[in-house]
Amino acid sequence: MTSLQIGLILPDILGTYGDDGNALVLRQRARMRGLEAEIIPIKLGEPVPESLDVYALGGGEDTAQILAAEHLIADGGLTRAASAGRPILAICAGLQVLGESFRASGRVVDGVGLIDATTASMAERAIGEVATEPTKAGITAELTEPLTGFENHMGATILGPAAQPLGTLTRGTGNADTAAILDLSDKAVQRSAEGAVQGSVIATYMHGPVLARNPQLADLLLAKAMGVALSELEPLSIPAIDQLRTERFNASEPPRSQR
Ligand code: GLN
Repeated sequence: MTSLQIGLILPDILGTYGDDGNALVLRQRARMRGLEAEIIPIKLGEPVPESLDVYALGGGEDTAQILAAEHLIADGGLTRAASAGRPILAICAGLQVLGESFRASGRVVDGVGLIDATTASMAERAIGEVATEPTKAGITAELTEPLTGFENHMGATILGPAAQPLGTLTRGTGNADTAAILDLSDKAVQRSAEGAVQGSVIATYMHGPVLARNPQLADLLLAKAMGVALSELEPLSIPAIDQLRTERFNASEPPRSQR
């Protein structure tokens, strides 16, 4: 591999929540191991190259995510990348956009269909710290460390049988609140679910950026991008990240009025 190519999908419309930082973390962790790495931003209206090494999509507002879904469906490049097993990280609106359908701006919109998930609306916005234990589903089998992030969404995402959660909640709302799962037979599973894993796609409601808070997840994506096992990556010792993780796992929730 000459230079690791990180596709940053639609930073112009899915950049609202600072999730572009995930691409920066991937590039930096690659460079710290002596690998050349570059970020390829793909903006609205531009074709998505199907042969990049790894892709990242961030969160965004309802109108922006409708535009994102329409572009990605019409273009087809990301779908071809997924079919070829290229690793894809999708955050919040990104998760919803890659699902089968989502509700935004008062209507149901077709998603890209890379994740067996449908997103409805919750009665109240979920805002706050999220923590999970990895499920180790599919491509995430090598994860052992708990995951931490920050959620801020109205979407309630129900997973179908082809998708599995990324994590089991120990804190936060995650994919769906209780009202959204009332009629489902697998309530307990859906209630505790955070994110989704399907094929080469890893999706989560966690902002942070999630890869800054979860170096093991960042390295898992890097390893998949490089076609090696996670255990083959030389560990990086960054004390500030350990400190950040401890702080976030122990953070107390501010009163609702201050959020
Ligand atoms: N607009 C979506 C929602 O509110 C996604 C928000 C986000 O990406 N943080 O559910």
